[in-house]
Amino acid sequence: METRKLAIIGSGPAGYTAAIYAARANLTPILYEGFMSGPAGGQLMTTTEVENYPGFPEGIMGPELMANFRSQAARFGTTILTEDVVSVGLSKRPFLVKGNKTHVKAEAVIIATGANAKRLEIEGAGDGEFWQRGVTACAVCDGAAPIFKNKPLFVIGGGDSAVEEAIFLTKYGSKIYIVHRRDQLRASKIMAERALKHPKIELLWNSAIEKVSGDQIVRKVRIKNLQTGKVEEREAGGVFFAIGHQPNTQFLNGQLEMSDTGYLIVKDGSTATNVEGVFAAGDVQDHVYRQAVTAAGTGCMAALDAERWLSSMGIE
Ligand code: NAP
Repeated sequence: METRKLAIIGSGPAGYTAAIYAARANLTPILYEGFMSGPAGGQLMTTTEVENYPGFPEGIMGPELMANFRSQAARFGTTILTEDVVSVGLSKRPFLVKGNKTHVKAEAVIIATGANAKRLEIEGAGDGEFWQRGVTACAVCDGAAPIFKNKPLFVIGGGDSAVEEAIFLTKYGSKIYIVHRRDQLRASKIMAERALKHPKIELLWNSAIEKVSGDQIVRKVRIKNLQTGKVEEREAGGVFFAIGHQPNTQFLNGQLEMSDTGYLIVKDGSTATNVEGVFAAGDVQDHVYRQAVTAAGTGCMAALDAERWLSSMGIE
């Protein structure tokens, strides 16, 4: 079995940035970009315009930005594998990385698997019910589908994602409702204002969707006002979860220290995990900032940390 100096698991801004730095440091990294576990390229692949990534004053489309990251990583000699990592063995070095096609040993590993959108358990919204038949967790991926066209659409959440998704959906739906459990948005001021001012968006404060119903596709939602207890049924064409993310750490099988919410724990000011030689970067270890630029920043840190650690072990 091949032994590599460095394996990078994940292909968002963190993974690719780690690869660019590691490849330029002659570590000939191997990078798993994923296949079934989510879009290769990470969350920006399901975003439209990215306006806050420095260096692009006019903005750049998420998939285009990620294609640039990928080709920059490839240009310096990163081996990119289009497969998911099923498990890793971190109890002894070199570490064993098991993909669903290949097995590789690596002296150091960078985990940059990001996070996935969370779903709520709502009657009618589950697998085998209306999930993917009008209920989704990604407006940007699914919003253009014909079933949503000119229909009232409901976005659940009150953060930047909820607002961004609602604004995106105004292109397709007849009216967009943001269903939020509190009476104040968590979203940044500028985003909140855009939603509040938008003629096609209405906020349903202190509210929760209790039930999704329909025939082949979603037709109705039952909404409860959490303050008054009043329940009403509304016509609906779609329901979009925008309630945050879950870090992708399941394949680690508890071998690394994690917070209660499943985020990897790294040493302060570093990307080192509790296992020597294993580093973590991007959203999988960041529940605070979760930005493309911060993910890229920690990807750079992880590559430098790995390079220094390998060098301290006499592996150049
Ligand atoms: P978030 O900021 O954590 O917001 C999640 C929202 O979902 C909150 O409003 C929360 O309600 C609600 N929520 C959570 N669990 C819920 C539940 N069980 N039932 C009902 N509602 C629930 O997540 P996010 O909006 O995905 O944003 C994540 C990060 O990415 C943030 O730092 C954000 O600024 C950033 N982001 C930026 C942009 C942009 O700048 N263009 C776009 C998207 C995301 P409470 O408010 O009551 O907690």
